[in-house]
Amino acid sequence: MADNTKHYDVVVVGAGPAGYISAIRLAQLGFKTACIEKWINPEGKQVLGGTCLNVGCIPSKALLASSEEFENISTHASDHGITVKGASFDLRTMLARKDGIVSKMTKGIEFLFKKNKIDWLKGEGRFVGAQTDKVLLEVQGASGVDSVSAGHVVIATGSKARHIPSIPVDNKLICDNEGALTFDKVPAKLGVIGAGVIGLELGSVWRRLGSTVHVLEASPQFLAACDESVSKEAFKLFTQQGLKIEMGIRINEVKTSSKGVTVAYTSAEGSATEVQFDRLIVSVGRVPNTENLNLEAVGLSVNEQGFIPVDDYCATSNPRIFAIGDVVRGPMLAHKGEDEGVMVAERIAGQATHIDYNCIPWVIYTMPEIAWVGQTEQQLKVEGRAYKAGQFPFMANGRALGMGTPEGFVKILADAKTDELLGVHIVSAAASDLISEAAVAMEFKASAEDIARVCHPHPSLSEVMREAALAVDKRALNM
Ligand code: FAD
Ligand code: NAD
Repeated sequence: MADNTKHYDVVVVGAGPAGYISAIRLAQLGFKTACIEKWINPEGKQVLGGTCLNVGCIPSKALLASSEEFENISTHASDHGITVKGASFDLRTMLARKDGIVSKMTKGIEFLFKKNKIDWLKGEGRFVGAQTDKVLLEVQGASGVDSVSAGHVVIATGSKARHIPSIPVDNKLICDNEGALTFDKVPAKLGVIGAGVIGLELGSVWRRLGSTVHVLEASPQFLAACDESVSKEAFKLFTQQGLKIEMGIRINEVKTSSKGVTVAYTSAEGSATEVQFDRLIVSVGRVPNTENLNLEAVGLSVNEQGFIPVDDYCATSNPRIFAIGDVVRGPMLAHKGEDEGVMVAERIAGQATHIDYNCIPWVIYTMPEIAWVGQTEQQLKVEGRAYKAGQFPFMANGRALGMGTPEGFVKILADAKTDELLGVHIVSAAASDLISEAAVAMEFKASAEDIARVCHPHPSLSEVMREAALAVDKRALNM
């Protein structure tokens, strides 16, 4: 019988931001590359882009922008002397705009695959075995199973929402990120379980559009990964905006009825409470996708948390197989996966690329945004590292006042002796853009003094970064 196995230099499994970027870099480096992707969107179309483009970063940021626009027009325009009577919105148009952006972006990747001559193998990929010079896979597509072999394989199968067994997600009444991005009407009362990134971003979207939002969080500490001064400021601001955030609760039971969803929980003080919601979002973290990959066929397995174990360079214990993005350790961030995708492509090509994981920026796209890079003050204390801190508020910045966004601050942590930047923490409008300066500086091992010496444009939000750097040495100029 003829062997129909198609051979590639490299096969990437998964076309989310980690996988598709890796495939493009591999093709740029001259490898014959294929990418296996199985995603089918609600219209039944096979699409590229993974969680990020279809049900994650891109649609959530589109709705954040639309809802912010509405809140600005309906609530804040009057601060500028602008009168807008009866501002309203059409949710269907808002959702269609979001879907249009998603479609443009996913089609963009199809274009990039064609441009770079990357074969998109449509279907679910699984390992079949490994030989000395190649790895064998199968792709289960709409019209049957295809055999593929590759010199190297990059696993980029991403993650999915973690569900709690006693809380049945139907993506109608009880939703994870997928349902929460497509509500057909604004729920009057919205419950959110989990005050993490998704809970705060999507909670903010629906609050701005008119929901009363009640967030129930198990941890007693709000945004535990952030610098404490940032989480304190954010809690104050989000609460002022109208988000009700209850910390330290324990969920007991969730029931649905024709009236909506009832959540029974125990409060931090120990009292049993029951709340009725029209809809509930469950955002309690994400779990890696490895089921059906048949990892055992290539001698791999997952660790206790379900991640594929890799070293600092994303190499697995099989020398022909790498794993990147949400399916491996580290923050579940699109840009972290993208950088890993580039790194493994270049390492397969014999280059010595590495990633400084300490320089990966984090962003939460609330208003104000939260962004940080490097270590928090509490981490430095645990480490026993001597540090200096400088902080400067946006309230003292002319551009922030002009824009009507005086909330928040920049805080810079630097080594007490060498002045090397150790961490930069921002709460402000456009923090997602401002943090890049800090990431560049930290990659170049810059000092606080370096940022303080660089000329920053006036008036701009970035001046607050410079003032915070000056404040490290107690010489802020405008304070
Ligand atoms: P994914 O994007 O999950 O892609 C994995 C792909 O692999 C999927 O397309 C899947 O279909 C495919 N796949 C899985 N198994 C197989 C198989 N066996 N065969 C073929 N294909 C397979 N991160 C940010 O940095 N910024 C943000 O603003 C942000 N916002 C987010 C908002 C939401 C609501 C959510 C849910 C996430 C958000 N994230 C954000 C996180 C970000 O989406 C992920 O970190 C990122 O998508 C991970 O990329 P990935 O390529 O590893 O995996
Ligand atoms: P998360 O880890 O950010 O937050 C989950 C929250 O749920 C935590 O605060 C946790 O204490 C809480 N929790 C867990 N179990 C609970 C329970 N039983 N009851 C009540 N609270 C409970 O997770 P997420 O918000 O689901 O987001 C998932 C991932 O997606 C994150 O790791 C994040 O990196 C990524 N993401 C990133 C962005 C961004 O970069 N802007 C946006 C959205 C999502």
